[in-house]
Amino acid sequence: MTTKLYPSSFSIPQGDTTFANYYSNCLRYQVFRNTLPKSDIPLGYKAIGELGELAVSHRFPKDANIKREESFKYQLQGDFILSGRVDFLETLEDGTVIVHEVKSTSSRAQLTNCINKGIVQEAHLGQLVTYLNAYNTHLGYLHVNYFHFTRDLNIGIVPRTFEIELKNNAVYIDGQIHDLSVSDILGYWDLLQQAHEGDELPPAPVSKFNVCKNCPFYQVCVESPKDKIEFNRLIDCKEEGELEPKPAHPFKLNLHNVRRS
Ligand code: SF4
Repeated sequence: MTTKLYPSSFSIPQGDTTFANYYSNCLRYQVFRNTLPKSDIPLGYKAIGELGELAVSHRFPKDANIKREESFKYQLQGDFILSGRVDFLETLEDGTVIVHEVKSTSSRAQLTNCINKGIVQEAHLGQLVTYLNAYNTHLGYLHVNYFHFTRDLNIGIVPRTFEIELKNNAVYIDGQIHDLSVSDILGYWDLLQQAHEGDELPPAPVSKFNVCKNCPFYQVCVESPKDKIEFNRLIDCKEEGELEPKPAHPFKLNLHNVRRS
């Protein structure tokens, strides 16, 4: 059976495979997640994602050769496929392909760290570099939009765009070399494939942040400390509502917390 891996779930373990800052860094979590049918994206995430894409689409010149929401499939070795959707694929007159990835957020932490301080999230970088490699191109743009909503439901947007360029094995963000190389990023997909193929689950990570406490797979994980869990057991858990994701930053429009216009 083909296993789908999702570029949007890129989450490289920190330092080594037994340390994780977030549950998504945990290879076990990724194995569980990829074993289940993909859940629907919560409506709030979908809505804010579409707002971001709309905002970016207005920034392209009218005559740009752009394909929107391009379905993405990339065969890896063995029975694994990278599957996703590229937000915008631009083709220049000379045939150069440029990948545009759009990220939308209402998280104040992302406003501070990514938009104000210019610290690109590794997850976002990994996703875009994976696309660039698959399209055999070297240039992409990461568009990050922070949205805030006023009490009378006007929408404020703070955008920032990063140029991502690959030169040989190096990754440059706005001309500055990044710690992660192309092979570091692509190596993550090998690691994840090995985690799926092994007879045992990857080791549970240690973390000063106690990542397991918010993990939607906690229950099934403690029940199967080593062995691969039965697929049917996962499906049962999902049907019984035991695997509802607990997003770290659920998008919600809370009228008590919004800023005044
Ligand atoms: S409970 Fe902990 S070890 Fe298990 S999948 Fe979740 S993060 Fe990983």
